[in-house]
Amino acid sequence: RKYVYLFHEGKAEMKDLLGGKGANLAEMTNIGLPVPPGLTITTEACNEYYEVGRAFPAGLEEQLQKGLQDLEQQIGKKFGDAVNPLLVSVRSGAKISMPGMMDTILNLGLNDVTVQGLIQATGNARFALDCYRRFIQMFGDVAMGVPHHAFEEILARAKEEQGVGFDHQLDAEALKQIIGKYQQLYQEHTGTDFPQEPYQQLLLAIKAVFGSWNSDRAIVYRKHNKIPDDLGTAVNVQAMVFGNMGDDCGTGVAFTRNPSTGEKKLYGEYLINAQGEDVVAGIRTPQPISSLEQDMPEIYQQFVQISQRLEKHYRDMQDIEFTVEKGKLYMLQTRNGKRTAAAAMKAAVDMVHEGLISKEEAMLRVDPKQINQILHPRIDTKAKLNIIATGLPASPGAASGEVVFDADDAEKQGKEGKKVVLVRTETTPDDIHGLVMAQGVLTSRGGMTSHAAVVARGMGKPAVCGCEALKIDYEQKCFTVGRITVQEGDLISIDGATGQVILGQVPTLAPELGGEFAEFLGWADEIRTMGVRANADTPEDAKKARDFGAAGIGLTRTEHMFMQQERLPIVQQMILAETVEERQKALDQLLPFQQEDFYGILEAMEGYPVCIRLLDPPLHEFLPNREELLVEITTLKCTGGDPELITEKEVLLKKVEALHEFNPMLGHRGCRLGITYPEIYAMQARAIFQAVAQLTKEGVKAIPEVEIPLVIHVNELAFLRKQTIEIAEQVMKETGVEFEYTVGTMIEVPRAALTADEIAREADFFSFGTNDLTQTTFGFSRDDAEGKFLQHYIDAKVLKENPFVTLDPLGVGKLMDLTVKLGRTTKPDLQIGICGEHGGDPDSIETCYKLGLDFVSCSTFRVPIARLAAAQAVI
Ligand code: ADP
Ligand code: MG
Ligand code: MG
Repeated sequence: RKYVYLFHEGKAEMKDLLGGKGANLAEMTNIGLPVPPGLTITTEACNEYYEVGRAFPAGLEEQLQKGLQDLEQQIGKKFGDAVNPLLVSVRSGAKISMPGMMDTILNLGLNDVTVQGLIQATGNARFALDCYRRFIQMFGDVAMGVPHHAFEEILARAKEEQGVGFDHQLDAEALKQIIGKYQQLYQEHTGTDFPQEPYQQLLLAIKAVFGSWNSDRAIVYRKHNKIPDDLGTAVNVQAMVFGNMGDDCGTGVAFTRNPSTGEKKLYGEYLINAQGEDVVAGIRTPQPISSLEQDMPEIYQQFVQISQRLEKHYRDMQDIEFTVEKGKLYMLQTRNGKRTAAAAMKAAVDMVHEGLISKEEAMLRVDPKQINQILHPRIDTKAKLNIIATGLPASPGAASGEVVFDADDAEKQGKEGKKVVLVRTETTPDDIHGLVMAQGVLTSRGGMTSHAAVVARGMGKPAVCGCEALKIDYEQKCFTVGRITVQEGDLISIDGATGQVILGQVPTLAPELGGEFAEFLGWADEIRTMGVRANADTPEDAKKARDFGAAGIGLTRTEHMFMQQERLPIVQQMILAETVEERQKALDQLLPFQQEDFYGILEAMEGYPVCIRLLDPPLHEFLPNREELLVEITTLKCTGGDPELITEKEVLLKKVEALHEFNPMLGHRGCRLGITYPEIYAMQARAIFQAVAQLTKEGVKAIPEVEIPLVIHVNELAFLRKQTIEIAEQVMKETGVEFEYTVGTMIEVPRAALTADEIAREADFFSFGTNDLTQTTFGFSRDDAEGKFLQHYIDAKVLKENPFVTLDPLGVGKLMDLTVKLGRTTKPDLQIGICGEHGGDPDSIETCYKLGLDFVSCSTFRVPIARLAAAQAVI
């Protein structure tokens, strides 16, 4: 088996075997760029190293020695030579670059003898000794676990004694002494002398790289980022070039475009007379890459040319590491540069214009999940932040404000025009009014799909959830993180894109949605075949959704309209009514409100369909909580309260108790309400059609779709459809206005899916309610599952993903597939869409595309994500 590849034997496509760094070093070598020669030990060697119990697989050492000889020949120096020694770097490099992997060791091959050779060969003692002390430090720290700070203390003391500020000002004599102390430190810590045999050094370093693949940090990182454990890491052994030989030397890093804005301009830094990671380690302040043009004009020109060439070659933005040795430029690494969403989008659009990539390729350059970053104010990347804790990045965007601990306070202060951040252990539907008025929300418990997270994402509000470091004390109105206490009224900021909690106010940048953003998503619209709609309950939401590119509304939830303050008492009257007449009285009062709601939404969505779902949740959601009522009544009785009021409350309590359900999620809700109280749905249908008639009269094109929720049997739909049509005809007669409308249903329980051919007879359209369909297919309630065992299932790899976040393709997806097929046997061009959280999840959108759906519908702020994901699904 071939374990060792010389750079010129590899290529960019061999990332699996050579790791990202090795494959790109090979590629650069083969296109003729100045890369110091080297070799790569394969990821397979790493995996076999573990298979045989942390030992080199047979044959590896011979191949390594052979490779080294090749290197020696290419360079004309010998490894371990006392006169002119070859030095190498040992660099880790997995397929996916990973923090937690072993850091690079430079200048390997030096010992007490070869360092003298290096002094002789270069005539530069300071340089040679600097290399040696760096080597001992890196080898000791990285390969053998000698604490980094112990080396740094020795170095700091030496600088102090010498009265110099910077490492490179230490003279040869001082360096010699440091080397002595370093070796002593090494001995004390490892119990062995610093290894003098270069080949021994090399083997230890390679083992350390292999070992770092299974360091705790690397394992945690892989788990978090869903990277397989069996990829293994490659090891690169490369001839050293030296940026620390004097002022005609240096080292630097640069991006071919600005990684935070995408601007097409070299972006980076370098340091004269420095080595390796000095630039990023903050040893001295580096120079911006633009000043290299003055410092080393020829090198600069050459570097510009090479970076352009690399960009053309890889057809993507590159992140490049280079070193200059005595006026000669060397390339040490290139890779596709990590970038912000805004930069990714701008670079992709520019590259299409430059003819570098196609529009389709441009689509694949932006991660739909990242688009969120662009839609919200962001923290200015240049700002200094006082980060006190990090939670889950639950809803993107940056928010600053005074801390409040109560939804009522948030509402009150928000209405007064104050900016507040609501801080709670977790939120419930009772906190919505506070959420609405807060800049953002921070919770100490709950996950990415907790109430606060879902609601905040729906509202496009920043949220950080599950920030467990926060200890909230509602009584004292403060929270603590470690030793820091934050009182009510103190200013904090949250970054919902990173999960950071920051003390004080932070500078933010406003989103820019014109220009490249519009152009890019315009291309997505050209490419995609599925429609994208939004879920919106208010005219404002509907307008925003249009701005984001939604072509219609896939779900308007009418119950949210029932919750509003002036309406709730009327809704309660309706629920408490003993007779149909009483109920009708309340409904008559609700009608104008609903009509106004529908009028506003249909008007905002002029020319596009609006799918309105009739009342869905169980009625008790509109009534007071049973326990609270009991306490209220008891208190009234004990304090001699008004007997009339007590009776009134007792009646209410009776009704609440009568409506109590053991399992409301599977209870008297959805079209079951519509069947038992037909007058409720009748009122809603009338409100819709009267609004449509009014709009039609005014010349506004309204396209209503009336949606009956939670149907399990075709007869339910037949009954309610008949009623709806009757009302439409009545309204047409009353108003003298003709209009069009459709009546359809949500598919959200397995029985509906299984009998979709029958149901389709009575439906003009289907819309998958995959939140409920997932609950009912899995047979567990989302609210309970997410809090109790779902995370455990995912950690234990019983489930790959949270099925409420990403559509379960094999189970729920199979039911959907069946539904589509059965539905379209009855009606070949039955319109079928999806609404609910999954409609905005890129992976789920791909599933929907494969199932042949006509559109996806998602919360407003996810519309751009869905547009891109729908385009990617086609490609
Ligand atoms: P990382 O994966 O952390 O970027 P690298 O393996 O790229 O680590 O090494 C870090 C730095 O070490 C490089 O950017 C370069 O400056 C320096 N370096 C690595 N190999 C060599 C070499 N052969 N000659 C000179 N410098 C090197
Ligand atoms: Mg590094
Ligand atoms: Mg690097």
